Amino acid sequence: MAKKQPATTTEEVLRAALFNAGQRQENWLFGGESYRRIAYGEEIDDWDSDNFPCADCGVTKGQFHLANCDAEKCPKCQEQALGCLCERDDRRMP
Ligand SMILES: [Zn+2]
Ligand SMILES: [Zn+2]
Repeated sequence: MAKKQPATTTEEVLRAALFNAGQRQENWLFGGESYRRIAYGEEIDDWDSDNFPCADCGVTKGQFHLANCDAEKCPKCQEQALGCLCERDDRRMP
């Protein structure tokens, strides 16, 4: 039953999967209407993205925030994406 340990930790694998999924998802649908997500550095607030990664999810300028990042803005209402009330199609519970 000896199984070889993978070279990377589970945490790293999970983070990489989350990162890849986040970068693939360029648009969000709101009631069937597509909005391009706001990448880190494109926000109206200046977070000094040239010098620092996202304080919450750690992506660098021009990358999309990871799922459930506190800092991501909703492309529809410009509020915090986590807390806004827009009906995002992928956020609806099945
Ligand atoms: Zn972020
Ligand atoms: Zn919104």
